Amino acid sequence: MTAFWTEPDYDDHELVQLVRDPKSGLTAIIALHSTHLGPGAGGTRFWHYPDPRDAMRDALRLSRGMSYKNAMAGLPMGGGKAVILADANRTKTPDMLAAFGDAVEALGGRYVTAEDVGISEADMVAVAGRTDYVSGLPVEGDDAAGGDPGPFTAMGIYHGIKAAVQHKLGKDSLDGVHVAIQGTGSVGGGVARLLSRDGAKLTLADIHEDRAAALAEELDGETVGHDAIMSVACDVFSPNALGAILDDAGIARLEAPIVAGGANNQLARAHHGKQLAERGILYAPDYVINAGGIISVTLEYLCRHKGEPCDINEVRKRIAQIPGRLEEIWCESDDSGVSSDVVADRMAQKLIGR
Ligand code: NAD
Repeated sequence: MTAFWTEPDYDDHELVQLVRDPKSGLTAIIALHSTHLGPGAGGTRFWHYPDPRDAMRDALRLSRGMSYKNAMAGLPMGGGKAVILADANRTKTPDMLAAFGDAVEALGGRYVTAEDVGISEADMVAVAGRTDYVSGLPVEGDDAAGGDPGPFTAMGIYHGIKAAVQHKLGKDSLDGVHVAIQGTGSVGGGVARLLSRDGAKLTLADIHEDRAAALAEELDGETVGHDAIMSVACDVFSPNALGAILDDAGIARLEAPIVAGGANNQLARAHHGKQLAERGILYAPDYVINAGGIISVTLEYLCRHKGEPCDINEVRKRIAQIPGRLEEIWCESDDSGVSSDVVADRMAQKLIGR
């Protein structure tokens, strides 16, 4: 058997914990990549993995991603992630969530959890019944930070697209700039609405075609089939659906000089960032441009723990810093000839002391 710590996805993670609770049927992995900047923060994924090794891979990769994302967002948090291994029927019970909450509590604050794929706000409220180390809980009032991170993520991407258009196309306004948006859910829909207010021309696609069509009608945009969106000739391609879409075939199809969107893990493999740069395409590293949501839930968590109300203007101020970070990355990339994804990784590694 090869040693676990020689696996390619293991990156000197500080802790990788297997949680088993036979009574409730809980099997989970909690991975803490780095707590250099603060408690390891990152959501809990509830997913059925036919091969449990994929669950370990997800926990390792996603927790490292959270270290980078939190560091580049200027947050006093490290990187962590949990995965709960669901059965084929995705059975989720209150006892299971309670046992998971107990496991988070037992880490004494080294790990702070939140929602991720397969975990709802109501599930997190259940977990919060057993531990305080939870963020992304419902908040009351429009002026409070926290709650659904989608609109905050969209806000950051909107700012990031404006910065990319400025950097690559030399335009100060989005008026008439053509953006093709893949995925019109919480994030993609929010981005589309913000861009539309500035007069951008929109082409939208979603596997739920009615969703894209309804938004196109609302915003006076156009739609294309979900398999055609990556080859739309436009100024910006904004991926807001799936990860790993920037592979050899995907990059070859792009007819846009800019890729800037919220989907996590857009690059299928590490070398695809270089491939984008070689095609002259400006890429906004995903974990930098999509940090709006984590900024909101983290500030909500930190304020709650201090017993203070959290001002939404502070969240907006920090989200407005995303374009500055992107600009720094792109300038460094222009100067060094190193692709923007690698520049961002190096900056993040420096921040977390690696
Ligand atoms: P969502 O489920 O609300 O929306 C995703 C949309 O993409 C759905 O409408 C879905 O039908 C569509 N879709 C799926 N596959 C598609 C395909 N092949 N082509 C076109 N459309 C497709 O999810 P979301 O919260 O908007 O998140 C979107 C992406 O952003 C995900 O990758 C997520 O990990 C990432 N992200 C989200 C947040 C957040 O705050 N919600 C934060 C950071 C990153």
